[in-house]
Amino acid sequence: MEPTRLLSSALARQIAADFGTPVYVYDQTALEQQARAALAFPNAFGLTARFAMKALPNAAILRTFDRAGLHFDASSGYEAWRAIKAGVAAEKISLSTQELPADFAALWNAGITVNACSLHQLDTIGKLFPGAAIGVRFNPGQGSGGTGKTNVGGPDASFGIWHEHLPAVQEIAARHQLRIVRIHTHIGSGSDPLVWQQVSRLSLDLTRHFPEVTTLNLGGGYKVARVAEEKGTDLQTVGAPIKEAFAKLAEETGRQLHLEIEPGTFLVANCGALLARVQDVVDTGAQGRRFLKLDTGMTELLRPSLYGAQHPIFLFPGNDTGRRQDYVVVGHCCESGDLVTCAPGEPETISSRNLPETAIGDLCLIGGTGAYCSAMSTKNYNSFPEAAEVLVDTSSQPHLIRRRQTLEQITQNEILPAGF
Ligand SMILES: *Cc1c(COP(=O)(O)O)cnc(C)c1O
Repeated sequence: MEPTRLLSSALARQIAADFGTPVYVYDQTALEQQARAALAFPNAFGLTARFAMKALPNAAILRTFDRAGLHFDASSGYEAWRAIKAGVAAEKISLSTQELPADFAALWNAGITVNACSLHQLDTIGKLFPGAAIGVRFNPGQGSGGTGKTNVGGPDASFGIWHEHLPAVQEIAARHQLRIVRIHTHIGSGSDPLVWQQVSRLSLDLTRHFPEVTTLNLGGGYKVARVAEEKGTDLQTVGAPIKEAFAKLAEETGRQLHLEIEPGTFLVANCGALLARVQDVVDTGAQGRRFLKLDTGMTELLRPSLYGAQHPIFLFPGNDTGRRQDYVVVGHCCESGDLVTCAPGEPETISSRNLPETAIGDLCLIGGTGAYCSAMSTKNYNSFPEAAEVLVDTSSQPHLIRRRQTLEQITQNEILPAGF
């Protein structure tokens, strides 16, 4: 999907009037279109496409994808319960987590599947459920991410079981009569497609050591272009050679492996936008800069501060002067790190965008904010309330899918000890 505005100015004004700003807006039509693209991933002997729900875990989004035929990848016990609570059948949920939950047994008994992501997890699961059929997440020895922070493969990553520990995996599995039926790898978010393909071949080779494996899960990480300068990964292109490799393995060994993928970003990034308001315009003199201050920032959109991520910015000027200006767009938090227009990949380097001349009170839409925005923010920093979320349905009707938080809710778990 190309970076688009997602909302007409009329609909943006209606949503701002009805639900206030800042507000996340998701487009059901776009979500369903991405789901169809994921379900069309090239495969030789069947496919399960999972939504990596940590990207956008709102119940209305989970239900949209559940109906569209996707399954789910949960990255914590809480996420797995959250999906169950949203109405997802436990059998459709696969858990791959850095922290095996204390109540794992209850989740397992509910019907979820799991990928053991460390030798300790494998042993724990084996002790709890000897004889169980489970998956194993390997670190294939190589990773690739859009930034160092999202590279989760290779010797510097703690994710999955290091590939050279294969004998230990087999020993622990044998000790508990565990049946290893799925191999899983996920090497990073925003992966280089060539590295992804290379690692997929390594992962396929790993299955040769596990005669009971019927499924290979190749994770997520497919890139999307949020701004025009970026290049997205085409699933058909990246998947075609992998389909061939599955077919070749079948010719050689007779084993027809089922494929799983689990994109997060690909399914939601460009299906969401953050609608905000310009609440101030300031400058630092003739040699200085001109700043647009929004009523949002790292409280809703952390990716620029964290990764130096680039997001398209669209303004809806109330009074269109036809002129343009270079603006530094900043958030409302009290630190200079709350910068929306940082340089690409450089969170601390100030940059500007050439945008239509705008005034206080104008609406502003930040695109590409469906993935890891609402789900990952400095929630309640400066005591700003968690923003509302709206889903625009296939008939262009907006529905509130999460209310804006109240001050009461921000402080509800605080306790004053006696005498304070
Ligand atoms: C985060 C994650 C994904 C999704 O990654 P994207 O880059 O959003 O596609 C998939 N699988 C696992 C195990 C993950 O942790």
